[in-house]
Amino acid sequence: VPLLKPELLYAEGAFLPGAALEFSAESGRIVRIMRPEDARDEPALELPGRALLPGFINAHSHAFQRLIRGRTQWRRERDPADFWTWRAAMYEAALGLEPDEVYAVSRQCFIEMLRAGFTAVGEFHYLHNDRSGRAYQDRLELANRVIAAAEDAGIRIRLLHVAYATGGIGEALRDEQRRFATPDLDRYLTDVAALASRVAGRDDVMVGVAPHSVRAVPADWLGAIHAFACERDMPFHMHASEQPAEVDACRAAHGITPIELIAGRGALDERTTIVHATHATAREIGLLGGATVCVCPTTERDLGDGFLPASALLEAGARLALGTDSQTVIAPFEEMRLIEYHERLRTLRRVVLARAESGGGPGRSAGHGYAVGSPVGRAASGRSTRLEVAPTLLRMGAEHGARSLRLDAGALEPGRLADFVTIDLRHPALEGWTPGTLAPLLALCAPPDVIVDVWVGGVQRIARGRHAAQDEAVAAYRAVAARFAAA
Ligand SMILES: [Zn+2]
Repeated sequence: VPLLKPELLYAEGAFLPGAALEFSAESGRIVRIMRPEDARDEPALELPGRALLPGFINAHSHAFQRLIRGRTQWRRERDPADFWTWRAAMYEAALGLEPDEVYAVSRQCFIEMLRAGFTAVGEFHYLHNDRSGRAYQDRLELANRVIAAAEDAGIRIRLLHVAYATGGIGEALRDEQRRFATPDLDRYLTDVAALASRVAGRDDVMVGVAPHSVRAVPADWLGAIHAFACERDMPFHMHASEQPAEVDACRAAHGITPIELIAGRGALDERTTIVHATHATAREIGLLGGATVCVCPTTERDLGDGFLPASALLEAGARLALGTDSQTVIAPFEEMRLIEYHERLRTLRRVVLARAESGGGPGRSAGHGYAVGSPVGRAASGRSTRLEVAPTLLRMGAEHGARSLRLDAGALEPGRLADFVTIDLRHPALEGWTPGTLAPLLALCAPPDVIVDVWVGGVQRIARGRHAAQDEAVAAYRAVAARFAAA
């Protein structure tokens, strides 16, 4: 039934009791949000004890890295472990996988994302060549396998096809980077164009460009790749300022920092997403207003990357989106709450990221004509404005992620893609909820399994925590993991 009646529906930064959502099975889009009195006599799928929210967006993923989860948590007695020792383990996985295995690992990872409440993924795909470093007969072989994995899992995918040409700034690729190589710019853009034309007109599979980093892509490619993205209305994603060594190398080679370099090449604007920006300088933060920064806090803490300057980025006007990156943890609420909690630990304050603009207000209309009961940020008479942090965090997880991937998703509004999740309001961790406390309970406190049902494009992919293909996917994944462990 294309009409859902949950107990609560999240729109414009507040939970509305009794509202209904109508979607079109044909277009896979939301048609309208109905008031309880208008929906009363309509035949509907009743969802008692459920709250409906927009699906979360995973704006930065490397699906194959799921394979090294749990395998990098050790070090040699006399050696420090850091990002670069982790990278050696990741390269080992990257070098070992055959195309069928790339498919199996990716499908398992995408099903796990769906179960966690992610309805779309930005897959930052840099595994291009065969194990010896030669291009496959179809140069897009592995991109096609990753896309097939997403299609079979039922998650929406923006495949961010990665350019990777140097082993460090001005250095030749190393042997262990041979599978990532896109040795010349023309061939790279030709491949992206071919991939895009294969999926033209679809909104379940889309393509974008992604120069890997200033380490891996010559500076004079950046302007051309960005111009290509503008021409074809694609998102432009790039890692930057994740590690101090990368910032130092960029300064040494170019006299400026990575985000300054990207901006200087005309590649930093509203279609740009900078992934990490952990070590962004004050000057770089100033350049990021209007762009998106994709933060991957569970990966950044695993890799010992450092703390994101989140408050300063919000002050500068940057949007923050979320990514599971290395797949150490796949859980949207955990990603969003770490951004806030890291700022608390750094500043010795609480409720640091709450902003007056979060949760609706003038100029932001969902088009359903609802008078929102208790909008966040509105001043009570005679008292100063009460600022809530949870709507800010939920917007990072949905709306800003959608914007980063240039998807018409991320909010329950007419015309947007019918991607949504339900929360089990009878979960013990949520007992005592009210419409006013549910958002902070979810964003800051709840365990991942409060999310129980997931729809993508109006098709239910997860029902009561289960995916129809999960047993088969797990069996295939286990075979790959066993071979990898034995190798
Ligand atoms: Zn990454």
